[in-house]
Amino acid sequence: MSEPVFRTIIEPFRIHSVEPIRMTTAEERRAHLAAASYNLFQLHADDVLIDLLTDSGTGAMSRDQWAAIQRGDESYAGSPSYFTFRDAVRELFDFEHVIPVHQGRAAERILMSVLGGPGKAVPNNTHFDTTRANVEATGAEAVDLVVPEGKDPASLHPFKGNMDLAALDALLAARGADVPCVFVTITNNSGGGQPVSLANLRGVRELCDQYGKPLFLDACRFAENAWFIREREEGQAGRDVADIVRDIAALADGMTMSAKKDPMGNIGGWLALDDPDLAQECRNVLILTEGFPTYGGLAGRDLEALAQGLKEAVQHDYLRYRITSTAYLGDALQKAGIPVLEPTGGHAVYIDARALLPHVDPLHYPGQSVAVALYELGGVRTCEIGTVMFGRRPDGTERPAAMDLVRLAVPRRTYTQSHIDYVIEVCERLAERAHRLPGYRISEEPKALRHFTARFEPLT
Ligand SMILES: *Cc1c(COP(=O)(O)O)cnc(C)c1O
Repeated sequence: MSEPVFRTIIEPFRIHSVEPIRMTTAEERRAHLAAASYNLFQLHADDVLIDLLTDSGTGAMSRDQWAAIQRGDESYAGSPSYFTFRDAVRELFDFEHVIPVHQGRAAERILMSVLGGPGKAVPNNTHFDTTRANVEATGAEAVDLVVPEGKDPASLHPFKGNMDLAALDALLAARGADVPCVFVTITNNSGGGQPVSLANLRGVRELCDQYGKPLFLDACRFAENAWFIREREEGQAGRDVADIVRDIAALADGMTMSAKKDPMGNIGGWLALDDPDLAQECRNVLILTEGFPTYGGLAGRDLEALAQGLKEAVQHDYLRYRITSTAYLGDALQKAGIPVLEPTGGHAVYIDARALLPHVDPLHYPGQSVAVALYELGGVRTCEIGTVMFGRRPDGTERPAAMDLVRLAVPRRTYTQSHIDYVIEVCERLAERAHRLPGYRISEEPKALRHFTARFEPLT
């Protein structure tokens, strides 16, 4: 008998411990929104029914991760948990120096405080918000060079996260002396969770060699990216995902990592690299702000949980479920007539709010309007990725972001298919009233990363 194929997406786990979630009334949600100044980051999480704000640190840890927590050794220096963690990282990313940090942005800040500075320019396919902020905080310029398909929500290109190699070549030719390193984000989170191909990474590597620049990966979703390579890239079908990850790592000189993403942690990150002098400089900054180099702001138990999470992140049953269940949500929204970024990325579905709300000017934040409405309608929390997040320039002026998206990020191993079916229903209801949704204005905002704390008012 040939292998039977079934349509139902099976979560490759069963539930071992449950967390209650709570429904609220629409009236309560309207009051919560007003109290939060329409900023969803300001809501209390227990007033949220389905929380798709982010997939960062919100995943469910496995039985084996919780067991590993018990093995955590809290020695200040030289903890065995550090070596377990370091070896698990090196099993996939064979860099000489592995420096734990409390989360991804700490790795970015440390690296940029050494490599950045006024007059410098850091290219990336698309900088994630904290990465951009950490580059700009040093006075350097963050340059996004994703391929043109990556900016077209409807393009079906299989690797929309790819770097525009011609644009990178041009930047390095024109301003080579200003560029301290080249970054590639896998998958391209701010561009819709879109993957980067192995071929494109090889092209970036060649340019880095030609111009003598180190290549760093912002590798938060390395396993999802490797799965897409296996599924979509010529010659990669059927390969072990861990081997594809090793091929990716071998092309780079170092990486920054948020372990709150694919490594299945609730907290953590690392900076890894080969250059011993740069590693030493980074460790010096680390000691000043994070902690001793064998714990870097994490508890020994966190390091153990991450070491186990890394093993689970590259399992094929898990990745197949992860990618197909996210695509299931994307396909359903499309069937409901909601414009979504195509093809669906690994960790999230992105609604094209600019297309859904053509009556709202990008400078009145159509993404914010959709995100607020999803919470008001059904207690579903999502995240604007658009002009609120990226529209403010360092000089304080404002321009529309490349796209106005609303991200429905799917926490790892956390929600079941019926939770997702409910989200689909809420989105269908939203589509019916999209033409009536208002724009917003910002009444108060900080200088950087304003989306976390800005206050909004609906325009009537
Ligand atoms: C989450 C993320 C970061 C930052 O990591 P934190 O752990 O949130 O500090 C950097 N880059 C990308 C692509 C991310 O998704």
